[in-house]
Amino acid sequence: MRADLRHDHLVPLTGIRNLGILAHVDAGKTTVTERILYLTGAVHRRGEVHEGTTVTDFDPLERDRGITIFAAAVSCLWDGHRINLIDTPGHVDFSDEVERSLRVLDGAVAVFDAVAGVEPQSESVWRQADRYGVPRIAFVNKMDRAGADLDAAVASIRARLRVTPLVVQLPIGREDGFTGVVDLLRMRALTWDAGRDTPTEGPVPEALGDEARRRRRLLEETVAELHPAALEEFCARPEISAPTLAAALRDLTLSGEAVVVLCGSAYRDRGVEPLLDAVVAYLPAPPDVPPVRGAWDGSGQERPADPAAPFAALVFKVHAAATGRLTYLRVYAGTIRRGDVVLDAGARRTERIGRILRVQADRHTETDRATAGDIVAVAGVKAARAGATLCAPGAPLVLEPPVTASPVVSVA
Ligand code: GDP
Repeated sequence: MRADLRHDHLVPLTGIRNLGILAHVDAGKTTVTERILYLTGAVHRRGEVHEGTTVTDFDPLERDRGITIFAAAVSCLWDGHRINLIDTPGHVDFSDEVERSLRVLDGAVAVFDAVAGVEPQSESVWRQADRYGVPRIAFVNKMDRAGADLDAAVASIRARLRVTPLVVQLPIGREDGFTGVVDLLRMRALTWDAGRDTPTEGPVPEALGDEARRRRRLLEETVAELHPAALEEFCARPEISAPTLAAALRDLTLSGEAVVVLCGSAYRDRGVEPLLDAVVAYLPAPPDVPPVRGAWDGSGQERPADPAAPFAALVFKVHAAATGRLTYLRVYAGTIRRGDVVLDAGARRTERIGRILRVQADRHTETDRATAGDIVAVAGVKAARAGATLCAPGAPLVLEPPVTASPVVSVA
């Protein structure tokens, strides 16, 4: 669904998804990102990794190496929601940057290769995301490749990541003949015909009917085991309804007890629309995650995701752009406008906010303010470094990394 970015300030806090894509190098993170940007209308031409025309890999060094180094933040709209896509580097040499980007995410899509399944780097990034309590959904990519096997990839997710997979799709066709998926919640088929931009929705193909019903049942049983409200419905009715299943999948994603698994082929442009729908349905908005914590003069404090609270933001990247220094901020609380004076809490130095920009892949648009939950780039900040806290001078604090050993949100 293409969207008009001029109206993106109308998106409420509950409509924001601060999203990262986590993957082993080569699993298809760049390709998935490009398809998301294309489908959301953030870019108007398709970038291809092999042509070196991708917009997220805008650093020439990165293009040369063919790996993703930059944690670029890109804003796009999907179905009335604003998705701020924070590109996390997948290469182990850059794990400091991975950690910094994990701090500012509210949720992530973990991309796996349908042939290789869970690879060593996907495992280490998964563990880092566990430490930061980042809720995730999984996308098994490259379903078109020879040897692609969703069940084997799902088995490796269960065994190596030690998490319960909740598979919500059944692939239609194998390898080269992979043409779509059955959505097991709605029991509808989505197919992507060559040359068409949007998928066609229709009934489940007859040949797949039994298999789809078997897998739907398996999904219901697994969800009922983990979720009390789903269990209640499972016992009282012949089946768990799609809305109850969806609500349970969201709770289980937020608590980290299970991971929703989707599949597709980003390269063939198949499966990315349902992935975006799943991002909106299952991953959290800023108010769904616990308030950020900080400290000042030895006393701890919390800041809620509230535009009226005292301002607090984390600098997660500084980029020397041609037009000057751009400071990427995750705003956790409060509101900033152009001209505001803020405190770099660690350095005990004030900074003045210049233009506030929303980054849309290949261009920036100026916005009049940034509020709790936002990810923006600001001009005018002179010295604050990546990792610094910017806050209201009258309510200082230094943000703590939100490292958790326990689930993010408990299931009600
Ligand atoms: P990254 O390193 O995770 O960012 O992966 P890339 O997006 O750069 O993809 C790595 C390689 O896999 C590139 O040659 C892509 O064209 C290819 N690729 C990505 N997605 C798919 C897919 O769905 N199917 C196939 N067959 N190849 C893919």
